Amino acid sequence: MKIFICTDAEGISCLDKKELITENTVEMRTRLMADVNAAIRGAFDGGADAVEVVDGHGGGNNFLPGELDLRAVQLPGSALTKLDADAVFMVGTHAMSGTPNAFYDHTQSSETWHDYYLNGRRGGEMLQMAAWAGAYGVPLVMVSGDHAACAEAREFFGNIRTACVKYGIDHCNAECLPAEEAERLIYQAARDAIALIPKIRPCRINLPAEIVVEFNRTDHCSAVLAANPGLEQLDGRTLRRVSRTVTAYTDVLL
Ligand SMILES: [Zn+2]
Repeated sequence: MKIFICTDAEGISCLDKKELITENTVEMRTRLMADVNAAIRGAFDGGADAVEVVDGHGGGNNFLPGELDLRAVQLPGSALTKLDADAVFMVGTHAMSGTPNAFYDHTQSSETWHDYYLNGRRGGEMLQMAAWAGAYGVPLVMVSGDHAACAEAREFFGNIRTACVKYGIDHCNAECLPAEEAERLIYQAARDAIALIPKIRPCRINLPAEIVVEFNRTDHCSAVLAANPGLEQLDGRTLRRVSRTVTAYTDVLL
């Protein structure tokens, strides 16, 4: 039983201000290690015999060297081109852009992406990860993050295990559970998620898949179009493309 964990930073426990994340603080990196290690412990105690982890926030380089649980294997971000696992966990994730009372809500880019649609359904990064994993027949079974991220996970994926480690007050502020409580919840969700794997249906999207991104501004849109002339422009700030297959994670992005 192999678990693939993708980490993010915004939904990590005990980080209650946006600057703690945007400034890539030691506090952020320390809490990231605590949360991911709690998930790894839970996975092994639940019956996993291998855990692979990608440091997924901002292109990586957030893990503190030597601090990852030695039983887990860290993969580079480039590993998101294929998936070899029985289930996926997302640790430290966040709600999609536009979610109220959510800490650091965004989808891919908080600066430039306004909304994302996959086959007509508005979604965020959990949908993107689950759709990619689903192309391999692998379910997303565990999520940790703020209250809004956990609610989004259940709305999209039903009865998966969620660990709510904080409550978003607004985009920049959150109210956090104590560290030990947050780690305990992550551990439990991870451990209990293993038994759920056969019961959770992978998120299989219809192919070809339509990807639509509405940007915040017209210049954001034209910059992406200039770099990717194959995209179709729907209006001043919206681009569309069609993916015939989903192999790499980027196949569900623009
Ligand atoms: Zn992030």
